[in-house]
Amino acid sequence: VIERSALAERLECLGQLAGGVAHDFNNLLAINLNYLDFVLERTADAETREDLTRARTSAERARELTRQLLLFARQEPGDAEVIDVDSVIEDARALLGRTIGGHVELIARRSPEPLAVRCDWGRMEQVLLNLVINARDAMPDGGTVVIEAGPVRLEHDPDRLPPLPAGPYAQLKVSDTGTGMPPEVAARIFEPFFTTKAEQHGTGLGLATVYSIVTEAGGDITVSSEPGVGTTFRILLPAVSAPVARAGGAAGRARRGET
Ligand code: ADP
Repeated sequence: VIERSALAERLECLGQLAGGVAHDFNNLLAINLNYLDFVLERTADAETREDLTRARTSAERARELTRQLLLFARQEPGDAEVIDVDSVIEDARALLGRTIGGHVELIARRSPEPLAVRCDWGRMEQVLLNLVINARDAMPDGGTVVIEAGPVRLEHDPDRLPPLPAGPYAQLKVSDTGTGMPPEVAARIFEPFFTTKAEQHGTGLGLATVYSIVTEAGGDITVSSEPGVGTTFRILLPAVSAPVARAGGAAGRARRGET
């Protein structure tokens, strides 16, 4: 288990390293996959085809890993803009509606009052997608995921790590009725490459990415979980008082083709 301050440092280091390597690696893998496809097309022998298909599967797996690394490593600061929290949740819900299995119910509860944060729209969406997809993975026999938003006020708290200034915050809560996790797992989930999923399914980069996005936006994320009951992630982001139309920020409108 690594401390939160060491975690931030480790994530930054990894981000720099990964960004440099993953990009070139991805291009090389694309070439590799292309050649494997060419050879597969010209091969009739069943045994050779089977070997080639194995090579292809592992190259694809490597490509997925580098894709995740690239997502994680994106160094640019992103387009921070004032975004309406309910709109980004609604966007994520619409996107997930198609991905999430029929046996998992996804409920999005609007904030009781308009709530805005300063963040990159795409990254905020990525945070929600990662959390909900993890929740789905934790509910193989079905269940419910609830995304909830609301305003909270933080008082000065000297023990808080990372320290967050007192003030108004937007809280986003993502809870599921899944398997939950024991404390020793919960303590490590934000570490890069930490995964309990089978090799083909997890990269262990999802929550490290979420953590980076949230802390870069000046916020924090915590988890509480009970085995057999479920898991709740709580995100705090500084609330922005700039008035925002409920219909969403500039990015939201652009996405919907409005001007
Ligand atoms: P990955 O999904 O590739 O394993 P993540 O960083 O997204 O990587 O998650 C790390 C680990 O955290 C998962 O392997 C799982 O053990 C645990 N985890 C994350 N979200 C949940 C959840 N909602 N319920 C139970 N366990 C979870």
